[in-house]
Amino acid sequence: MKQLTIISGKGGTGKTVIASSLAVLASDKVLVDADVDAPNLHLMLSPQLISQQDFWGAKTAAIDEDTCLKCGLCAGFCRFGAIDDQIKINPYRCEGCGVCVQVCPAGAVTLKDELTGYLFLSQTPYGLLSHARLKTGVAEASGKLITAIRRVAEEMAQKQGMGQIIIDGSPGIGCPVIASLTGTNLALIITEPTLSGISDLKRITGVTEHFKIKTAVCINKYDLNEENTREIAQFCREKNLALLAKIPFDEEVIKSIQKGQPLVSYTKSRTTEALEELWGKVKDEL
Ligand code: SF4
Ligand code: SF4
Repeated sequence: MKQLTIISGKGGTGKTVIASSLAVLASDKVLVDADVDAPNLHLMLSPQLISQQDFWGAKTAAIDEDTCLKCGLCAGFCRFGAIDDQIKINPYRCEGCGVCVQVCPAGAVTLKDELTGYLFLSQTPYGLLSHARLKTGVAEASGKLITAIRRVAEEMAQKQGMGQIIIDGSPGIGCPVIASLTGTNLALIITEPTLSGISDLKRITGVTEHFKIKTAVCINKYDLNEENTREIAQFCREKNLALLAKIPFDEEVIKSIQKGQPLVSYTKSRTTEALEELWGKVKDEL
């Protein structure tokens, strides 16, 4: 089974617009929206919810006040400052590391599972979509949640005999992106010809290089600044990255988003032709 992860160094490059069109063009696949902090792929794919599941992805310390000796050892050892002078836990600071459990002489501390999000499995006109929503204030659990929805997608792909998983990855370069990329066959970076786009492209290729993930690039809205597009192409040559497509700016994109439709289902244009060409090349790279 081949896995493609579509990423960008930051939000706003058109990653999800491109991912939703590839979702239409690809046959034989299960889809994943790995942007669990701000999921939006489902907005383009008209999903019908099949199942929902709670996700308990973190632990928080809890102190039994009747057993506690108020010795303060736990507060002294907690390097996240999650226990105050009154020996009360701040759940937003607690990282669930368990040090307080280890040092407590009275056995007064336990770790409790925390509800950190929800897993969803939906049917779309283009195939199954595994997605999720992270609860607010538990961003540190996003990596585990992404791993969980990817596992669901792998199980479903195996059950249905699907050959591909297409993952709309998280923006940025942090833990959620790494969770989106781990074990994938190809990282497709969507960039745009702006100075910040070039800088983000360089940072995200540092991540894929570090994890030795085969990487290709697509420049979205390339015709908005052809000089910067040439600079990106030069960077790809230097880094030996396949530049798979240059997608033109298209005012129809906004209308397709407003309609909640992937661009390639909404219209036919030179942009959709470029997207079709992109998918052909992605298949070859996979
Ligand atoms: S589990 Fe770790 S972070 Fe949480 S209160 Fe205990 S020592 Fe602090
Ligand atoms: S280490 Fe245990 S007994 Fe001491 S203050 Fe913390 S919870 Fe209470």
